[in-house]
Amino acid sequence: MTSPQPKDFKVAIVGGGIAGLTLAIALHYRQVPAILYESAAGFAEIGAGVSFTTNALQAMKHIHPGVFEAFERACTVNGWDSKRDVWFDYLDGTADHDREAFTIRTGLGQAGVHRAHYLDELVKLLPADKARFGKRLEDIEVPATPGDAGRLVLRFRDGSSETADAVIGCDGIKSRVRQLLVADDNPAAAHPGYTHKYAYRGLVPMAAAVAAVGDERARNACMHMGPGGHVLTFPVSGGEQLNIVAFRTTEDDWPDRERLARPARREDALRDFAGYGRIVTSLLRLTSEELSVWAIFDTADNPPHTYYKGRVCIAGDAAHATSPHHGSGAGFCVEDSAVLADLLADEHVRTPADLEAVFAAYDAARRERAQWLVRSSRFIGDSYEWRAEGVGKDFAKIEKEINERLSIIGDVDVAGFCRDARADLVKRLESQLKN
Ligand SMILES: Cc1cc2nc3c(=O)[nH]c(=O)nc-3n(C[C@H](O)[C@H](O)[C@H](O)COP(=O)(O)OP(=O)(O)OC[C@H]3O[C@@H](n4cnc5c(N)ncnc54)[C@H](O)[C@@H]3O)c2cc1C
Repeated sequence: MTSPQPKDFKVAIVGGGIAGLTLAIALHYRQVPAILYESAAGFAEIGAGVSFTTNALQAMKHIHPGVFEAFERACTVNGWDSKRDVWFDYLDGTADHDREAFTIRTGLGQAGVHRAHYLDELVKLLPADKARFGKRLEDIEVPATPGDAGRLVLRFRDGSSETADAVIGCDGIKSRVRQLLVADDNPAAAHPGYTHKYAYRGLVPMAAAVAAVGDERARNACMHMGPGGHVLTFPVSGGEQLNIVAFRTTEDDWPDRERLARPARREDALRDFAGYGRIVTSLLRLTSEELSVWAIFDTADNPPHTYYKGRVCIAGDAAHATSPHHGSGAGFCVEDSAVLADLLADEHVRTPADLEAVFAAYDAARRERAQWLVRSSRFIGDSYEWRAEGVGKDFAKIEKEINERLSIIGDVDVAGFCRDARADLVKRLESQLKN
């Protein structure tokens, strides 16, 4: 973390999910003036699990120790000591036998949280006056020059407006800020695309899961692979609940691109996974009768050509919405927050005129890595379903692909990312001074 410097600018963060909230916390502890505007009535996450890899944990610690401690308080690891370093046991989900095809181990193992529990912990780190609710951003007016007279104007659906020297869109997969940012140069990137996968998500009581599939499969993270579908499970809520996500690939289009979730029934899930083995079927039978099915959209086909324009930028899913098959979308949100916060807090950044260079350095530091994740996640999701090119149902090849790609995600130095980005920023500011 850098030492606090007086800043002659104010940042607006749009959206209070994992990206916006971790960024707001990071800026608060670096004494960078920032206000978060969230469309909902309060901070809220859906009742489902999210797991993190080592890069995300590094980013949490880098942002503020409290962000990592919040994660530690909410985190659940695999139930068996012998599986503490296991990310997932991979099984043939169509088989009735209970035997791993292979196991992926990482230093961290599986580290999952109940989203709402983690959010509750994170919120404690941000003073209440740093966030405004019921503020759905509709438009941003961009003045010609920075400075007091040149503040950006944020227009909200409730008719109100606010000003700021920079806007960071953390407004998720359907980001309004991304639409405004790319509309002129790259309109196709304004909206995410359907990956032709959807997912049933459920949390079931651990005792019921143990009774249905046995202690080993219920208490430890598993990936049940199959043709055109896969089911992942990991424990959350201190081992009291099992998080289940059942993905299915389809030829059909998603009917309503504005609504990425629709109601479904347990029978729909069971029908989709007919022909799968005993473990998968028993787990799906435990889910609620009334379920939701979530469309998996991403930005792989039309990625934004830039993450910033002037003093407006995008972060988190707004910039790089990804399918969840690497379990790293949220982790990359936290990486974005670490880099952006360090750049904004850098002692060379003092006035609104410095902010475009901040966002240029952020874009250079983040875009390639994040866009790789989005593409790779699609590939790895297909490999779990034995349909990835060059891999098929060859378990040794699937295992190799996972290990290589997990290493790109997790074996990194997040503090180093931040240092490099700041060094780049300083060069950009120097060249700005010369010109
Ligand atoms: C099925 C599934 C499983 C996943 N599992 C994992 C996992 O295990 N590990 C992992 O790392 N990632 C996972 N992910 C990805 C992860 O959930 C996302 O990457 C992450 O939650 C995105 O956070 P965000 O803050 O960018 O966006 P969001 O969480 O979508 O937050 C955006 C916020 O902006 C607000 N907002 C939207 N529009 C506006 C507006 N116009 N004005 C003001 N506010 C606005 C919204 O209300 C919301 O609060 C998964 C995703 C899915 C779909």
